[in-house]
Amino acid sequence: MRAMLSVVIATLLTTATAGVHAAQPETRISDQSMTTAAQLRETALASDLGYRITQSLTTEVGPRLAGSEADARAVAWAVAKFKELGFDKVWTEPVTFPKWERRSESAHVLGKHAQPLHLTALGGSPAGTVEGEVVRFADLAALEAAAPGSLAGKIAFIDYKMERARDGSGYGPGSRVRSKGPSAAIRAGAVGYLMRSAGTDSHRNPHTGITRFDEGLTPVPSAALAVPDAEQLTRLLALGPVSLRLSLDCGWNGTYTSQNVIGEIRGSKKPDEVVVIGGHLDSWDLGTGAIDDGAGVGLTMAAGKLIGDLKQHPARTIRVVAFANEEQGLHGGKAYATQHAAQVAKHQIGAESDFGAGRIYAYSSSAPEYARAADAKIGQALAPLGIAYTPGQGGPGPDVGPMAEKGMAWARLAQDGTDYFDLHHTPDDTFDKIDPQALAQNVAAYAVFAYLAASAEGDFGSRPASQPPAPQPSGK
Ligand code: ZN
Ligand code: ZN
Repeated sequence: MRAMLSVVIATLLTTATAGVHAAQPETRISDQSMTTAAQLRETALASDLGYRITQSLTTEVGPRLAGSEADARAVAWAVAKFKELGFDKVWTEPVTFPKWERRSESAHVLGKHAQPLHLTALGGSPAGTVEGEVVRFADLAALEAAAPGSLAGKIAFIDYKMERARDGSGYGPGSRVRSKGPSAAIRAGAVGYLMRSAGTDSHRNPHTGITRFDEGLTPVPSAALAVPDAEQLTRLLALGPVSLRLSLDCGWNGTYTSQNVIGEIRGSKKPDEVVVIGGHLDSWDLGTGAIDDGAGVGLTMAAGKLIGDLKQHPARTIRVVAFANEEQGLHGGKAYATQHAAQVAKHQIGAESDFGAGRIYAYSSSAPEYARAADAKIGQALAPLGIAYTPGQGGPGPDVGPMAEKGMAWARLAQDGTDYFDLHHTPDDTFDKIDPQALAQNVAAYAVFAYLAASAEGDFGSRPASQPPAPQPSGK
């Protein structure tokens, strides 16, 4: 998940479009659409379809590391599932990216307190076996302040504890330790990098996730310790110097072409205009990618199917996208935005579910002033699900972010992420962790949102962006 990335970008876009198109006729949602949406909401709440689709993906395909053998099986699964569900049109669009493989990983404390530690390689790490003394840092800033060469021959260890929060705000600083720590370690001369996992659990499960090495640096083996193992290492360091051997067999191996898999429920009056919803089809390899992001795929496929089952389809097309390789750099979302760059204005609005399977507690969108009343009506239709209308908050989900940067309107259906980072990117991300009632609430929310946005008279502000927004700092 990288849902917090684009908040500032989105706010800028909203402000810009609201100013330029102030004379636009007001976007409306009819009473009849509201009545249908209420029925759809109750149908979805009573349905276990999203749960069954998620079960099918996580059971039949299992872990879906981008570029692995299972990636191709996941694509075939998604094509077949869309067809089985009766979507009107199903197709794939290629997404090419570098392929990273994990083969083995271990760490052992050396000397009189000799013992193994549980860890996992960070995605993007090179292979290698290194031995060295561990130097602990309380946070990323402390490592970044280390003098060049001061860690020569040593292993850097950031022992930063990520904070739990309903909106996942602790993940910004937590994931920066993962994305920026290795490069800081290399600059200081380290031969290896360890971090306390970016997670909020106390289980012996390390959390993986992608890292990057800055241009011009020679990558070093980089891994995340399970939280109890990071604490163990800290206790050992309190007893005196600790040396360990870190051994990773993993790395980049050529390129791979996967597919964004797309299914459509055809609109009744404006079939060339689309409401985009979806999740990402890939996962990390340690669990079975249930909350990240099998649930997002399952619940949006179910929402599309339930809209397709209505006697009358909404005016616009519902497009459900199972994005390829989100985890290693938004490859599917970027490919979609490139492929559909000329059709920004044909995208009524887009929303991705990539924050687990917890209940949705808030709804917001980038709707400009002239669409605010229609947006509030969507909020009104979501209220019986326990969802607050919070205009002006949040940003698009990760894979719709690149399209939002091109000017597509976005919506956020904010899931309760209090427990998300107990499981995220660990072996514990498995199907049994999903609450079927919470997932049905998600399906209901996405169905109501997508149906009403697709039925509205008027738009939600999608316009080709005149210039790309300035890069924003990731997370918050
Ligand atoms: Zn995700
Ligand atoms: Zn993820």
